[in-house]
Parts: sequence; structure tokens; C-alpha cells
Amino acid sequence: MPVVEIDSDLCENSQTCEAVCPEDVFAIENGLVKVVSSADCTLCWKCVENCSSGAIRLDD
Ligand code: SF4
Repeated sequence: MPVVEIDSDLCENSQTCEAVCPEDVFAIENGLVKVVSSADCTLCWKCVENCSSGAIRLDD
């Protein structure tokens, strides 16, 4: 099962991952982007490819 993590040291809260993820793995809570359902990830890599901060880690 995929594990999706946001490296909080690198994340600049652009919320791009939330915008590009087709599976709603991310959500905005109190103005900050979070991972809410790693299990729904289909490993499309869009979040990794589009994050300008390099903050998304994906383990399959
Ligand atoms: S790899 Fe694709 S499905 Fe998985 S979290 Fe990133 S954007 Fe969403």
C-alpha cells in the first residue's frame, strides 16, 4: 500500500499536491495541506512531479 508523506521541512504550503491529486489523498485543514488518505494513492506521481518544493515522498 502506498505511503505518501509531506516533508514539513521542505513544504511551502503551495497546496499544489492537493490541486493535482486525482484521488483526494491531500486536504487543506486550517489552511495547511495535509495527507489524509495515503491508501487511496494510485502512484500516478503527479504530486511529486508538480511540487516545486520537492516536499512529497512516495513509498510504494
Ligand atoms: S501519486 Fe497521484 S494519486 Fe498518489 S498522492 Fe500523488 S497525485 Fe495523488
